[in-house]
Amino acid sequence: MFELIFLGTSASAPSVHRGLSSQVVSFRDQRFLIDCGEGTQRQILRSGIGFRRLHRILITHGHLDHILGLGGLLSTFARWETVDHLEIWAGAWALERIRDLLFGVVLRGATPPFRMDLHAIEAGSLWQGEDVRLSAFPVAHRGPGCFGFLFEETEHRPFLAEQAEALGVPPGPIRRRLVDGESVTLEDGRRIEPEQVLGPSRKGTRLVHVGDCGDTSDLEEVCAGVDGLVIEATYLEVEADMAHQFGHLTARQAAEFARRAQVGHLYLTHISRRYREKEVLEEAAAVFPSVTVVRDFDRFQIRRQD
Ligand SMILES: [Zn+2]
Ligand SMILES: [Zn+2]
Repeated sequence: MFELIFLGTSASAPSVHRGLSSQVVSFRDQRFLIDCGEGTQRQILRSGIGFRRLHRILITHGHLDHILGLGGLLSTFARWETVDHLEIWAGAWALERIRDLLFGVVLRGATPPFRMDLHAIEAGSLWQGEDVRLSAFPVAHRGPGCFGFLFEETEHRPFLAEQAEALGVPPGPIRRRLVDGESVTLEDGRRIEPEQVLGPSRKGTRLVHVGDCGDTSDLEEVCAGVDGLVIEATYLEVEADMAHQFGHLTARQAAEFARRAQVGHLYLTHISRRYREKEVLEEAAAVFPSVTVVRDFDRFQIRRQD
């Protein structure tokens, strides 16, 4: 299961009710901040999630509404010492702009007070943790090096506690060894194989985050059947020409894509001040009913659809 917290949900400029793009994806005690628009620090404070363990940052692309908050965040991290290192992943072009901001404007020759790793994203695997993996894939927006992110809980075989009970396998480390695929010998000499206490393999939860995006035609494979999809809906269909011109989607286009890819639930963000939220929701829900137009500070748990 993943937790998804939206910190900022506005497109290009903040509104009274919405901050600029930023969200956190958590899996157990691992957290990833995705994008860091201007004002993200204050949104973190208001959300109550705290700054600890926010040292891994993924950037979808280098437009200012997605990166300007990094300067302030670095400055605060440096003063409060809430993290002992910082890792930022972004496409090469975005990373250049981020480097200018962090090293040219914020640090200006000073040595950062903790280790900072800036990674240029290449499509494919980015990070692997216990029971979870993260990969990146290219997204068509404006300019080079825009990426989306796939979070996947690794497949696992559930432990059948009732079977174990019936076989007389005592609770404790011996069960852990069976879960890890080892066979064990009980005190009475009987040998128990993992097969006897593990159910059939179950796919893990999958969550995809796509930031700004103007064309979904290459995304169907990576998004097929995912449990949760976060994607932008900057325009409405009445301004589809403008959406196309600026490399964005309409709510209807995002919903049509979710329907084609058969995703579990669709989360629409990057909402423009030019429309009312209700209009965005109506346009999308007419095509794909399992949809939410997210607001700042919304929290969701993403679980397996079955
Ligand atoms: Zn944007
Ligand atoms: Zn953009």
